[in-house]
Amino acid sequence: MAPKMSPADMAKEKASQAMGQALYGACQEHLERDPDYFFAQEDFESYNVVPRAETGNAVQWLVNNHLVRVYTSQDGQVLFKLRPEDVAKRLRTNPAEMEDLVYQHIEDSSTAGLWTKTLKARANMQTNVLNKAIKSLESKKLIKLIVSVKSPTKKMYMLWHLSAAEDVAGGAFYDGGELDAGLIYEMSNMIRVIVQARSWDISWEHIPRDEWAAAYPGGTSTSTGKFKPPDPRPIVRPMPPDYSDYHTTDSLLKEFNDKRVLNNVTLTKHDLQMVLDAMVYDGKLEAMSDETYRVARPALGLPRDSQAPSGSLWDMEDYGSGSGHGNAQGNGYTRAPCSRCPVFNLCEEGGPVSASNCEYFERWLRPKKNKMLAEEGMLMTPALKERVDAQLEALRKKEEGVA
Ligand code: SF4
Repeated sequence: MAPKMSPADMAKEKASQAMGQALYGACQEHLERDPDYFFAQEDFESYNVVPRAETGNAVQWLVNNHLVRVYTSQDGQVLFKLRPEDVAKRLRTNPAEMEDLVYQHIEDSSTAGLWTKTLKARANMQTNVLNKAIKSLESKKLIKLIVSVKSPTKKMYMLWHLSAAEDVAGGAFYDGGELDAGLIYEMSNMIRVIVQARSWDISWEHIPRDEWAAAYPGGTSTSTGKFKPPDPRPIVRPMPPDYSDYHTTDSLLKEFNDKRVLNNVTLTKHDLQMVLDAMVYDGKLEAMSDETYRVARPALGLPRDSQAPSGSLWDMEDYGSGSGHGNAQGNGYTRAPCSRCPVFNLCEEGGPVSASNCEYFERWLRPKKNKMLAEEGMLMTPALKERVDAQLEALRKKEEGVA
C-alpha cells in the first residue's frame, strides 16, 4: 500500500501536475508535426509556460507519467521524446518491469519495427519471459505484429499507434506484406480511361450507304426487314505537334488523390510512376515527353486486348466487324507496309524492289492518288513491272545458284 502523502506533498504534486500538463500542451504542436522530434531542455524553457526554475519538476512529472521518455545522445546531451496521451495512459496501467523494457526496445525501432530475435538479444531475456511480455503488450494494444515485405517470414513488432515505414510495408500496393495485384490491375484500367480522354483527336464518321449495304447480301438485316445503318465509326487522329494537354504524372497523381479514386489509398508520385512505367513497358501507354503520356493504339490486326476497359480507345477501334479483331487501324508504324513486308530484307534502291517502285509503299504514301490510279489501271506502269520482275527473277536464280 502506497504511503499516505502529507498535505504539503499533495500541494507540490498538484503544482507539478499543472506545470507538466501545461508543458505537454505546449509541445503538442511539435508532436503533431513530427512525432519523432527530440526535445532539449532549452526547447521546454523556450515555451515560457513554466517558470524556468520549475521546468525540471514539470519534466519529471511528465517522465513519471510516461508522457515523456528520456534519451541520452552520443555526445551526452539529455533529450526527451513525447508519447501520445493514450499510449502513456495504457503504460501507466502496465507497471510490469519486463513489459516496460520490451516496450521501450520496440519503441526505439520506431516505424522500422523490431525483429523478435533482435529484441531478445537487446532485452537479454529468456524466450518464455519475452513471449509473455509480448503477449501482454499485444493484448493491451501497445504493440502489434507487422509483416515486412523485405523479410516476410520474420516476426516483427512495432508500436500499436505507428504506421510501418514504406520500405517495410511496401507502399500503397502491399496489403499485409502481400502485393495487391488486383489494386494494380484496377488502377491501370483507370489510368487508361483517364489518359485516353486527352490522347487522340477522335471524330465520328457515318459509314456511306454503299459500303454498309454490301455487308448485308440478303438485302435486309433486322427483324423489321429494313436496313439498319451501322453506328458511326471513330476516326482517330494524332493530336497536333504543339498539343500540350497530355496527362502528366503530376496531373494523374492529383486526379487520383484529390478525387479519392482509390478508397483509403493515398498514392505517392513514386507509386504512380511505377505503374505508369509498367504500362509503358506493356505497350498500354506511350511516354511522350516530360513525363507526359497518351494511350497506345494497338498494332494492326492484333487481337483485341481482353484487358482493355470497356469504352476504351481499343474498344472503339473494334467497330464494325464484330469479330473482336475489328478494323483496327494500327499506329503510324504498323500501318506502314514496310513493317509487315515479306521482302523487307531485299528492299533497297537499285535492288529487285525498293521504296521508289513499290506499289504498296506508294499506295500507303498517297492513298487518294493511288485510288484514282488503281481505278484507271495505272498503278504500276508495264515498264516498271517488267523491270521489277526481271530483277526478282535474277535474284531468285542467284539464290538457287543458277548462272
Ligand atoms: S518499300 Fe515496299 S518492298 Fe520495300 S520494304 Fe516497304 S513495302 Fe516492302
